[in-house]
Amino acid sequence: MTGFSYRGGVLNAESVPLPRIAEAVGTPVYVYSSAVLAERFERFRRALSGLDATICYALKANDALAVVRTLADLGAGADVVSEGELAIARAAGVPAQKTVFAGVGKSRAEMEAGIGAGILQFNVESLPELEALDQVARAMGRKAPVALRINPDVDARTHAKITTGKSENKFGVPIDEAMEAARRAVGCAGIDLVGLAVHIGSQLTDIEPFRAAFAKMVDLAMAVRAAGMPLKRLDLGGGLGLSYAEEAPPTPEAYGAMVKEVTRPLGLPLLFEPGRHLVGEAGMLLTRVLYVKAGRSRRFVIVDAGMNDLIRPTLYDAHHAMLPVAEPGEEDHLERVDVVGPICESGDVFAEQRPLPPVSSGALLAIGTAGAYGSVMASYYNARPPAAEVMVKGDRFAVIRPRATIEEMIGRDRLPEWLAPPKRSRSSA
Ligand SMILES: *Cc1c(COP(=O)(O)O)cnc(C)c1O
Repeated sequence: MTGFSYRGGVLNAESVPLPRIAEAVGTPVYVYSSAVLAERFERFRRALSGLDATICYALKANDALAVVRTLADLGAGADVVSEGELAIARAAGVPAQKTVFAGVGKSRAEMEAGIGAGILQFNVESLPELEALDQVARAMGRKAPVALRINPDVDARTHAKITTGKSENKFGVPIDEAMEAARRAVGCAGIDLVGLAVHIGSQLTDIEPFRAAFAKMVDLAMAVRAAGMPLKRLDLGGGLGLSYAEEAPPTPEAYGAMVKEVTRPLGLPLLFEPGRHLVGEAGMLLTRVLYVKAGRSRRFVIVDAGMNDLIRPTLYDAHHAMLPVAEPGEEDHLERVDVVGPICESGDVFAEQRPLPPVSSGALLAIGTAGAYGSVMASYYNARPPAAEVMVKGDRFAVIRPRATIEEMIGRDRLPEWLAPPKRSRSSA
């Protein structure tokens, strides 16, 4: 794994030993490698060279300002799904003309924000949404650029919670209604139909569903064009998977070659929305072992990170590597343990029956491939302010998102006027 490696018996992020970060910032803490972000982005871009391609990083995978800024600096655009993400993309310096607004349920306020910012396109997912966007745009005296997101009814063969391109999923306009939807879009005074879009799911590890979906989109785009509706681009979404355990997802090069082959007859500029693929391997969640508990039938390694910091194992049965920060010795014998968090939920489990070298209280563990869909899904469950976030560059590191204090957490709340503030109780000696 680029970016994270053992040096002198200690796991480093680039040239920073992880214990240094744990000492300075506390645990749990997400640690991101700038070098991995850059390497992933450049490799994806190279794999698409020869194509007229815009790469819009999907912020929902990781919306830390420093992560978005790092990618924007390299030339990435943004794929946003809320007004908040749009604001982050703007704050990170992503040009509006490289920003796509996706999502199945945009509010009118979000539409206004996107039109006001002058974004490249809205990916519209239904006729009611098209109508609403048309009204908002006309009220502003503008035309909203629209790509129709199509549901191609292709099985992405990924986890059920992250498959989006089957007819039973809530996403996109059904492909057999696409031509009619395109006509409707062209007929709207507030809409400028600029393209078609597709995104069939996340963490795809097989190239064939991509190929099937893209081929359907190319046919559809040609039919739309032949019907007298010119298009400016085709948006092929994100979804390229990572190897969390044994998976062997397509390489960016294989993906790029397939895209070139399938889209050649069309000859339109392309847009991509990778999220996970760019940031997943750039991040680890660093956590400290609190206790090792011998249960009746299992050994539990209880760590200070919980499902409120990283929910993927609970939500998607996701596998994450567990790396002891102190490099295991050759002759260390492995024992199967359950690595669990402190949250009061039986589902707060990072790894079950995982072979690990012996670890004891105070040891540091790094939870691998945690850069995507990690911190963005963090919550305050159990009144635990989520993990701090740190970025590393070479031998430097910086806190990019401090952990909220308990005071800040309580400070978010307000008491209604009918409740008197509690008297500060003095503990009796
Ligand atoms: C989530 C999402 C993406 C990014 O998916 P990844 O699997 O992280 O690449 C791209 N486009 C749309 C429309 C999405 O909803």
